[in-house]
Amino acid sequence: MKVSYLSISEKRCTIQFYGCNFRCRACFADNEGYTEVTPEWLSAKIKQFDVEEIMLAGGEPTIYKKAIVDLVKSCDTKTILSTNGHLVDGKFIQEMEQSGLDEVHIDLKAYSQNLHAWYTGQSNKNVLTAIELLNNSNLNFEVITVFIPGLIDKEEIEKIADFLSCINDNMDYRIIRYVPVGDISRRPTESEIKEAVTIAEKYLRSVTSSLDERRHPVKRFRVFV
Ligand code: SF4
Repeated sequence: MKVSYLSISEKRCTIQFYGCNFRCRACFADNEGYTEVTPEWLSAKIKQFDVEEIMLAGGEPTIYKKAIVDLVKSCDTKTILSTNGHLVDGKFIQEMEQSGLDEVHIDLKAYSQNLHAWYTGQSNKNVLTAIELLNNSNLNFEVITVFIPGLIDKEEIEKIADFLSCINDNMDYRIIRYVPVGDISRRPTESEIKEAVTIAEKYLRSVTSSLDERRHPVKRFRVFV
């Protein structure tokens, strides 16, 4: 598998996998370069840092499915998979359950088919199915949408919340603020995010946003493997 770098904070090691099967217009991933590593090597490297959790991110980790399963099995630390969901099918979910994965963060970038295809270059059909499958699994998971003013706006958030509530109105849903990348929109205001949360709460019981809690630590450093 190909890894761009590890991002280390006092609490978490985030593995930035290289490459992705989406082409988001506001991609934040750093695709400068990579190193080819094995799960065993990576697991040993992470153990050098005293962290409480490991985040598999990218890029898109699931383009290395088998290696991901092997890596999670070899880690005895809390492990979270962050994914765009396109390759998350029933077989992979079963393997993840058996591997000891603790949590999945799955992006639902848009509910409207045309918008999703325009924004990512791919259909969202697999992602919608993956959310249903995760809901029927033993894995803890959270659905995440980036709020992008004028694109993935309140109307789209309402469609997503409605869709999720039809599966399970107790599902964890998180709305995060767009950080301007690629110049397709502006940073949303706090009141826009709060309004989006209020709209989602008409459908879902557990809605949070990036205003509630900062998840990306300020103090961190990169390790190039
Ligand atoms: S899914 Fe993530 S890494 Fe992949 S293109 Fe979209 S923003 Fe970039």
